Amino acid sequence: MKAIVFHQHGAPDVLKYTDAPEPTIRPNEVLVRVKACALNHLDLWVRQGLPNVSIPLPHIPGSDVSGEIAQIGADVTTVRIGQKVVLAPGVTCGKCAACLSGQDNRCRQFTNLGYMIDGGCAEFVRAPEVNCLPYPENLSFEEAASIPLVFQTAWHMLVGRAEVQPGEDVLILGAGSGVGSAAIQIAKFFGARVIATAGSDEKLQKAKQLGADHLINHKTQKIRDEVRRITSKRGVDVVVEHVGTATWEDSLSSLAASGRLVTCGATTGYDAKLDLRFLFSRQLSLLGSYMGTKSELHTVMKLVASGSLKPVVDRVFPLAEAAAAHAYLESSSQFGKVVLKV
Ligand SMILES: [Zn+2]
Repeated sequence: MKAIVFHQHGAPDVLKYTDAPEPTIRPNEVLVRVKACALNHLDLWVRQGLPNVSIPLPHIPGSDVSGEIAQIGADVTTVRIGQKVVLAPGVTCGKCAACLSGQDNRCRQFTNLGYMIDGGCAEFVRAPEVNCLPYPENLSFEEAASIPLVFQTAWHMLVGRAEVQPGEDVLILGAGSGVGSAAIQIAKFFGARVIATAGSDEKLQKAKQLGADHLINHKTQKIRDEVRRITSKRGVDVVVEHVGTATWEDSLSSLAASGRLVTCGATTGYDAKLDLRFLFSRQLSLLGSYMGTKSELHTVMKLVASGSLKPVVDRVFPLAEAAAAHAYLESSSQFGKVVLKV
């Protein structure tokens, strides 16, 4: 089969469009003929290499897959050959206490398609049967592939961890990112008031179309000052963080008393400062969030099928141009998802 393969970590040009062996499925797995694979920041980290993580090489990246079932293992009972499918990105043991309690994103063996195992930047990918999600018929393959990773991440942050409530004020950083554009829709779905930030007015207008109530251009405005102005000095109940060092202080200072900051990443760096007096006297909560559960993703897919949540596709590249797609995502000029069409 044709696939995007890298033999060493590095810049986008390590990604080669080449021949690779078709995956062999196990009895509890399916083989999916990939139609589209959406990119995530995770793909950039995996390609560049992560400290203390040894990714098996050569490697096929890609976590967000839509396609058709091409083959099923002997034990597979819930999907048929030819059926359209979206894959949940998280692959777990399915047997530990965390998995059995439905908290499969806490499984010690948790990985994603395209992370410690081969992913979907290829004509075929193998995945466990339990990763097959119902296909939302209202979406194209490119749109469907844009849903899983960022929507499960944003859902777990806002619903699973921060427990957002109707009427609350939510600050969402980086509205142009996949997580940001998903978080705006989820926060609005729960009846929150959304303040979104982005680095250009063009992106802010798109955030507004997704439902954001207030907009902050973080290149020309100071986030904490604008939040104070918009909330009449009160601050917000929830901050959705994934930017890291560059925005950390603004995020903390934007919280109202008893506010919750939930973070799923640190694209600009891991170093963060915290004044403990501020943490306890204002009774703040700092919440870490990692991916999402398959159960949450099933809920997300229902809301996608009913049109309540919508994929945001920025640009589609052919699979062979994965290197260009990575470089484009690295430039942060996108609003929403960058997708490879297979
Ligand atoms: Zn497990």
